[in-house]
Amino acid sequence: MRAHLLVLGGTTEARALAAALASDPAPEGPGPGLTRPGTTGPRVTSSLAGRVAAPRLPAGEVRIGGFGGPDGLAAWLRAERVDAVVDATHPFAAVMSRNAALAAAATGVPLLALRRPGWSPVDGDRWHPVESLDAAAAVLPGLGRRVFLTTGRQGIGAFAHLDGLRFLARSVDPPEPPVPAALDVLLDRGPFTLDGERALLREHRIDVVVTKDSGGAATAPKLTAARELGLPVVVVERPAPPAGVPVAASVPAALDWLAARGLAPR
Ligand code: NAP
Repeated sequence: MRAHLLVLGGTTEARALAAALASDPAPEGPGPGLTRPGTTGPRVTSSLAGRVAAPRLPAGEVRIGGFGGPDGLAAWLRAERVDAVVDATHPFAAVMSRNAALAAAATGVPLLALRRPGWSPVDGDRWHPVESLDAAAAVLPGLGRRVFLTTGRQGIGAFAHLDGLRFLARSVDPPEPPVPAALDVLLDRGPFTLDGERALLREHRIDVVVTKDSGGAATAPKLTAARELGLPVVVVERPAPPAGVPVAASVPAALDWLAARGLAPR
């Protein structure tokens, strides 16, 4: 039997993991777990929430939409005979990560969290760490009037009441109400370049940037551009990950974890 892996996705790392598993043939001959002469690597199902209208699809099988909470996920893991789950959701997808931890505990299916490291400030950064989008909204009026909002369309409502500020929000799909009264929307998705981010901040005369601590290279150039221009950046800190779930900080580390369990080729 081929091993069946569930990758909870929606991130660059989730796609990279699915691609690595799909392209990696299993070793020939009898071996730990999935190996069988002539078979390819494990069966991989990637799961997407369905928030983005035209998502970038990972390699392998894809399912789209919620499972119906932790119980629904646990039932899916049993019905699909899943051998391991990699929670490669965005660091701010806290509900899904909690559900994955509960479902893994209920079923005994091994769970790994794949989390890219967060960003760290360097010399010249003017960061204002906050615990939530609401806290970001509370500090904004003291920091600037023209705001570049990069926290994703789902969180824009937290800023809807800030009538005195002008917002440029960048998101993959258009935000839905409630939104701030003075809002320009830029539909785009990373990766972004430093030249592009510099130009954007200047063109829109941005004087404060808001971001989640998403980590990763794809959206980091805005931080460099803000530093160069001396702009404050409000950084929403990550929610705490579920306790007791092992964490891999990179795709190779996740592949090692799977290989150590005989669930992916070495
Ligand atoms: P969330 O608040 O943690 O999850 C809310 C519900 O959405 C979950 O209870 C689950 O529904 C469903 N869900 C979330 N991720 C799913 C997945 N990969 N596959 C199937 N169902 C999923 O999630 P979120 O913050 O809205 O993020 C949704 C998706 O967007 C995630 O896949 C995440 O990786 C991606 N994303 C999020 C952010 C962000 O800033 N939050 C940024 C970039 C990408 P059920 O309870 O019905 O199973």
